[in-house]
Amino acid sequence: MTTSVLSVASEAVPLIKTGGLADVAGALPGALRPHGVEVTTLLPGYPSVMAAIGKSRTVHRYDDLLGEEATLVAFELGGNRFIALDAPAYFAREGGAYADANGHDWQDNWRRFAALGRAGADLASGGVKRQRFDVLHAHDWQAAMATAYLRFAPAKAKCVPPSVMTIHNMAFQGYFPSAIFSRLGLPDSAWAIHGVEYHGGVGFLKAGLESASAITTVSPSYAREIKTPEFGMGLDGLIVTHADRVTGILNGIDNQTWKPASDTQLEQTFTARTLPRRLANKRSLEAEFGLDEADGPLFVVISRLSWQKGMDVLLEVIDHLVGIGGRLAVLGSGDPAIENGLQDCEARHPGRVSIRIGYDEALSHRMQAGGDAILVPSRFEPCGLTQLYGLAYGCVPVVARTGGLSDTVIDANVAALAAGTGTGVQFNHVTYSELVAALDRTVALYAQPAIWRRLQRNGMACDFSWSISGKAYADLYASLIA
Ligand code: ADP
Repeated sequence: MTTSVLSVASEAVPLIKTGGLADVAGALPGALRPHGVEVTTLLPGYPSVMAAIGKSRTVHRYDDLLGEEATLVAFELGGNRFIALDAPAYFAREGGAYADANGHDWQDNWRRFAALGRAGADLASGGVKRQRFDVLHAHDWQAAMATAYLRFAPAKAKCVPPSVMTIHNMAFQGYFPSAIFSRLGLPDSAWAIHGVEYHGGVGFLKAGLESASAITTVSPSYAREIKTPEFGMGLDGLIVTHADRVTGILNGIDNQTWKPASDTQLEQTFTARTLPRRLANKRSLEAEFGLDEADGPLFVVISRLSWQKGMDVLLEVIDHLVGIGGRLAVLGSGDPAIENGLQDCEARHPGRVSIRIGYDEALSHRMQAGGDAILVPSRFEPCGLTQLYGLAYGCVPVVARTGGLSDTVIDANVAALAAGTGTGVQFNHVTYSELVAALDRTVALYAQPAIWRRLQRNGMACDFSWSISGKAYADLYASLIA
């Protein structure tokens, strides 16, 4: 028997992406189908989503969805089922999914994503004709109100399925002033410590966590870390209280999109057996970034340029990286001070450091294929995907020992080298001295070609596809509907 799941997310490839959440929400349908689970993904009707809809069917019309007209439009894309919340007042606007072109959060984000949650709860609890789901699965704060509406204000009280709330990043919680509560359409009973109330305001993620039947996060280590004040971002107490409902399920990667043997975006495809062919990718990447050809390793960074990602510490170590013979290519955007700092470094080290500010999916593939090592110095990292793509592409990850980074990279320490099992370099704290030591270690490993090749091949042999995690989600759903 097929289990039907409504996955509610604010982004999913190939329709809209700002980060790893989109990769995961986009991959879940394919990951779960082999396990008898059919996923329908509910997304906001951003311009990029509406533009991609071909043949479609209107499944519901709202005259008043938290004050605006809206339509639910069902369609298929790439063999997967989607429903778009077509609500022009909320989503038909230029700019980003969450912020305007200047990076300022949309003022009405609470209403935009409460509306998404309301629609998700309606779909899952019998409020929309011919739509029935066995489980509702909400991702991050933007979708979290779906579980809260399901609990406190379902369309039909007799049709409430179990729900899963997945935390992709505890740092983003959707916290709003108490004044919005009366406009959410929730009963007064929802204004409670075990409801939506959070420090005197409304916490969307908090409400989702309190309301869901099960809580997951995206790596086993992060599931442990969020029980502590350092990583719990104020919600550690709640996570400890509900510890019996919390599990960590590692994200997988889409190994058809991220496959160096057949990646059409590359200068030269390659496998673990034909590693020397990577060189053509490195040469073309150097040319593309205007970097000198040189003997030392070419480091790459593909990242949001933020404090979480340790990009401020990266800035501090760039002179050292260049001093020990490394070169650096960065692709990313974010904090203006970090963007400016990186551009200063580029000016200081022509031919050695090169920066592309922006978002470029194809270039990110070419960087994984042409770089020698990918730097991921995150202060916290729920799962992290770029290190997984690095492993798949023979671009050795150099990572902070936190969250999913520590779960997926095997440090090439003496024991691991002796056993031939290392896949990268890990360091403990995101500080100048520890990152410098990690860079020194990486350069020394790179200078030993046989060992370096071993690291690359070990990484390429890892299976981080969805096969294991898809089954883990399917088992979780099954346990909830049993
Ligand atoms: P997060 O979701 O916290 O930003 P992840 O490592 O989980 O970090 O996922 C980031 C995703 O976004 C990866 O697929 C990565 O390749 C991609 N990415 C990040 N920045 C860029 C960029 N500037 N251009 C292209 N892809 C990017």
